[in-house]
This record gives sequence, C-alpha cells and structure tokens, in this order.
Amino acid sequence: MRILGVTKTELAARAKELRELLAGYSYEYHVLDAPSVSDAVYDSLMAELKAIEAAHPELVTLDSPTQRVGNELLGGFQKVAHSSRMLSLNDVFAMEDVEAWVVRMDKLLPKRSHEFFADIKMDGLACALIYEDGLLVRAVTRGDSFIGEDVTHNVRTIANVPLRLRGDPKHKVFLQGRTEVRGEIVMLKEDFEKLNASQRAVGKPEFANPRNLAAGTIRQLDPKLVAARPLTFIAYDILRDDPSEVPTNQAAYQALRGLGIRANSQAQVLQSLNGVRDFIAKWDKKRHDLPFTTDGLVVKLNDRAQFAELGVVGKQPRGAVAYKYAAEQATTVVRDIVISIGRTGAATPVAVFDPVQVAGTTVQHASLHNADEIARKDIRIGDTVVIFKAGDIIPQVESVVKELRPKAAEAFNYVKALHEQYPELEFERKGDDVVYRVKGASGDLMLKRSVEFYASRAALDIDTLGEKNVVALVDAGLVKDIADIYTLTVEQVAELDRFADVSARKLVEAIAEKKTPPLERFILGLGIRHVGAQTAIDLASHFESMEALSRATLEELQAVDGIGTVVAESIVAWFVDEDNQALLEKLAQVGVKPVYKKKSGHLAGKSFVVTGTLESMSRDEAAEAVRARGGVFQTSVAKDTTYLVAGGNVGAGKRAKAEKYGTVVLDEAEFVELLRKN
Ligand code: NAD
Repeated sequence: MRILGVTKTELAARAKELRELLAGYSYEYHVLDAPSVSDAVYDSLMAELKAIEAAHPELVTLDSPTQRVGNELLGGFQKVAHSSRMLSLNDVFAMEDVEAWVVRMDKLLPKRSHEFFADIKMDGLACALIYEDGLLVRAVTRGDSFIGEDVTHNVRTIANVPLRLRGDPKHKVFLQGRTEVRGEIVMLKEDFEKLNASQRAVGKPEFANPRNLAAGTIRQLDPKLVAARPLTFIAYDILRDDPSEVPTNQAAYQALRGLGIRANSQAQVLQSLNGVRDFIAKWDKKRHDLPFTTDGLVVKLNDRAQFAELGVVGKQPRGAVAYKYAAEQATTVVRDIVISIGRTGAATPVAVFDPVQVAGTTVQHASLHNADEIARKDIRIGDTVVIFKAGDIIPQVESVVKELRPKAAEAFNYVKALHEQYPELEFERKGDDVVYRVKGASGDLMLKRSVEFYASRAALDIDTLGEKNVVALVDAGLVKDIADIYTLTVEQVAELDRFADVSARKLVEAIAEKKTPPLERFILGLGIRHVGAQTAIDLASHFESMEALSRATLEELQAVDGIGTVVAESIVAWFVDEDNQALLEKLAQVGVKPVYKKKSGHLAGKSFVVTGTLESMSRDEAAEAVRARGGVFQTSVAKDTTYLVAGGNVGAGKRAKAEKYGTVVLDEAEFVELLRKN
C-alpha cells in the first residue's frame, strides 16, 4: 500500500475518517452479523489505515480497529472471560509478505526451526469449547478477544460438537481436567444451499452468505431456532494448562481427531518456505471446491513453544499469518479524470487512481465510459472508490465510498472538463447518444486526419499516402481505421478514380514496406495527444516495446525525462480507451510489428544536458549529434544525467544538482572532443 505525499495533517484526518468508517463496518459485521461492505473492501481500507499508522505510529489510537479484535458485546448472553486471548491474525497478501514475516521471526528467534503448519482459513465465527474431564461445560464466542458470550445452549445443538470427548487411549490426558478446543462455527456450502432452497419454497427471502448466517444463528437467543439451522464446528486449536502436552500444531490436530472433533484434513506440516509457497499455489483454485467458504489460509509455526516465545504484537501473534488470496475488489482514490478522444471523435473519460492490486494485477486507471455513468455513480476527483476486476476482465469502478469523500470534492462537470482539456475543440451529444463527440468534425474527418498523420513523413513516412489519397480511400469506405491500410488490395485501389493499376500497386507496396516501422515513429503515428516526435523518441528508448509502454504506470511514465503529469495521463488514458486497444490488436493482426533498435554508437548509455548557449552549434544540433552517437539528450539534470555541457557559466543551482547526482560538467571544447572520439 502506497502512502501519498500528502501532508501530515491530511494523513491524520484520513486516518481518523478510516478509523470511524471501519469501526462502523466492524460493528455491523461482528455485532449485527449484517455487513454493508464486502470483506475485500474492508480489508483494503484496513490496509490503507495500517500503512498510514506504520509510517506515522503517533497516529495510532487505542481504539483504532487495527488495535482491537471484534467488537463490544451486546446484551442477552452471559459474558465469560477467556483463559487466554482469542487473537486475530496479521493479513498478508503476497508471497513476499510471507518471506518478510519469516525474516522478522528469524531476527527475533534466530535458532527457530523452519517447520510450518498450514491450514485453510475458514470463514465463520470463532468459538471456544471448554471440556472438564471430557465433558462439554461451556462454549464461548471470541467476542472482543478477552471476553466472549456464553453460547453453550446453542452450541450444544450443533450435531458434530461432541458433548463428551471420545475416550481415545492415545489422548487420555485430554480427558482429565480442563481442555479447551478452539475452532470456527461454519455453515457448509451444501447446507446453506439447501436452507436457501427451502426458504425459496416457502416464499421467504434467501440468506446472503453462510458466514453471516452462521454468526447470526449462534447468537440467537432461542436454541430451538439454532437447532433448525445446520451448523458445523471445525477446530484449529487445543489448549491445556500445561502447554507441553501439545508440543506442535500437528500433535494438536491429531489429538482433536482422536477426541472425536473435526479438524481439517487439508492441514499440512511444511518443511520450508518452498513448502508454504506450494501450499498457497495448491489452494489458489482448489479452495473454491472446499465444502465451506474460506477467507484464505493460516500459516503458523509448527513448534508451539517457539510460537509462544515469539509472543504477540498488538492483537496479532508474531508466529502466524493469515494469507489472503487476491481479492476481486479493492479501494483506491481517484486522482484525476482524463478524457480521451478516439478516432471517431468520441470522448471517453478515464479515471486515474493511486495504483492498487486487484485480482492479482496493479490497476491504476479505468474507463468511466461516459458522462452519464460518472453522474449515475457520482464519481468525483478525490473520491475513494471500490474497484472491481475479475480475472482478466477489464477493471471497473463499482461504487464510491461516500463517507470518505473530501469536503471540497465537487460533482464532476463533464462539459467543463471537456472544454478545459480540449479548448480548441467543440463537442456535441446527439439525440439519445450517451457519448459526447467532436462537433463538426464528422467521424470521417477525424479518421482522415489520423490516417494522414500516421502516414506522414514524421511518422511512418508512407510514400504516396498523402492527403488526397487518404480522402479517396476513406470516402470509398476502404479505410475505417489505420490498420485497414494494410489490408488494401491492388484491385480495390485501382477501382478508385484517382488510381491506375501502376499507382495502385505502388501504394499497396509502399504501405507493405512499412510493416516494421521504428518504434518511435509508430508511437508518434498513433496520434496520442501531447506525444510529439521528441516524446515518442524518449518513450521508445525508455520502454523499448509497445508492450512495455502499454503497461507503464503513471509513475514510470513520469520518470522519463521531459514527461510530466499531463503527458503521462494522456498516454495512460490512450491505452485504456477500448477503441485504441482494439486498434493495436488489429494492427498486430495485419502484421504490423514496430521494431526498436537499441542505439549503438560510442555515447550509448550516456545522457547529456546542455545549459547556456554553445558557440559551435545550436542546441538542436547538439541534441542531434548526441542522438546520432547513441546518447540520450535531456532537458534538465536528473539522477541519470552523465554530462552537463556548460555553454558559458553554470548557475550555482545547476552545479549543486550535478554534484549531487555525480554528473560530470563539460565545457564546450570537451563536449566537442567527446563527440569526435570513437
Ligand atoms: P480473522 O478473523 O481474519 O483471523 C483470525 C481468526 O481466524 C481466528 O480468530 C480464527 O477464528 C479464524 N480461523 C479460521 N480458520 C482458522 C485456522 N485454520 N487456523 C487458525 N485460525 C483460523 O481476524 P479478524 O481481524 O478478527 O477478522 C477480520 C475478518 O473479518 C476479515 O476477514 C475481515 O474482512 C472481516 N470483517 C469484515 C467486515 C465487513 O464489513 N465486511 C468488518 C469487519 C471484519
């Protein structure tokens, strides 16, 4: 999770808002069993709060949801103190986080064994069963981790909870004194579906999800009602007054099974981090086929003495983590709404976000489709939004978290934004068309201009495809986008008035010759707003392929010398536009393959900035000379600048910057000498 460069006061305000919102969600979830947002949205906002608190520990408050487990308890049930806290678990979202966890443990406990114990994390309600001399005497919910609710009457109705532990001779010790079994009360998917089918049959509303139903059921005051709902208990822990009776988690699971308590058969001892990696990979898809709903995996140390030695930080034990698989929803902040104009003159708004992980990929922008869609969802710049992305499907803004809206955020005025972003154009919206299009310029005119530009000398330099020929081809309906020029046949072209056989052949051949254009010319030819010849060259030499350019994040684009926010956003918006994606695909299909030739020459890998006026050449000539020798010409001194060429005196500021970056300052004579060397 990235924290943005906002001021401390703004971060403190954001943290406060997040705390309040999350506390409300937590109440709905833990107390009312009726959450109003998905777990993924909750987890995403929680991750943001954790990131702020980690960077600014002074912002942590005692009542922060990062510090407490569950929620306060409602009346109705007797309160029971737990013998030891029923903790929550630290979430991790990627293998790197698991590795970092292991490194942290190694630091604290260098001689630790690297044996792990992994299980599926069940999505239910945590509950502790207390047995005295083998007899069930009490069942208590997790509650706020210190104190839970006595739900013994209800738990007694759960068919697979033994009222007396099995007299397994191997685990006799557990039948004497106090044995506490901890686990999750769930409703199996199959039972949930059956229950909903019977609800439907009697015309009653269906239940939304098994977790909330299980949690809501167990906290019903009438045990008869509970008995009518099929619940299942699945254990993950067994506690004794003398912890040495349960040396490992593997032993705990064996004891549970021996005593007649269900524990997951999927749980496994893993000998190394590689084993953990394999376990995570194994359950990535397969978890959907499990009989219960899950919210990830739990990975702990197998050795329980070491687990205990590592202790607890806040509300989470150091010796375990909850691994969460990539969620299909996440929250992020809309930083800008950029409008892109497609080849038909259609204006498409694109939201630019703080980068966020959704369904396994980083998402930083999404098409907002049209003005109506923005108005309907009331999406504003500065809003925190829920992004949805399933698998390979294009990310969408699902909704706005209105509670986190900055006070100053105004409703997005689409017409005003069009005017500000394209002052030179006029737009109109005809009839019931939802899309604004460039006024006057019919689709054809835009198309003609874009084909002409693509073929122009500065771009692909296609001989004979000048303005008049483009007009003729478009008017005849032979060219509907740039890619169509590559599918023209001599016969088709020869039929047009302007052409004879020879000229038609010449045209088709000239086009075919340009199927492998230099990358920078191809980028320029696409006509991306604000991307002129120099920017195209810079982009090509930085990214070296269309693939890499299309995937570039805003930050990566802005790292290219001379590219600022406006240009970067325009590039990003261009690639998000579905018309443009289709165009690139079509160009690839008709065989257009831009090529990037790594610059060779004795200045390859070196970058230059010229300051002041040179006597022997103009600035443009200097740039040309550097590029011809494989070097990069930059406009201002940056981290990667090799040489600063000084025409006249170098100002103190520039000199300090050069010194900071280790840039070598050359005078004109030295520069000329360097150009000459080979
Ligand atoms: P947690 O419930 O995610 O993790 C700890 C718990 O995992 C343990 O108490 C235990 O009961 C359970 N667990 C399940 N299988 C286990 C296994 N095999 N081994 C060990 N433990 C196992 O921790 P938490 O922070 O208290 O709860 C947060 C969860 O509740 C998150 O998933 C969050 O998304 C959800 N939540 C959602 C909302 C919402 O509004 N949607 C609000 C609050 C919390």
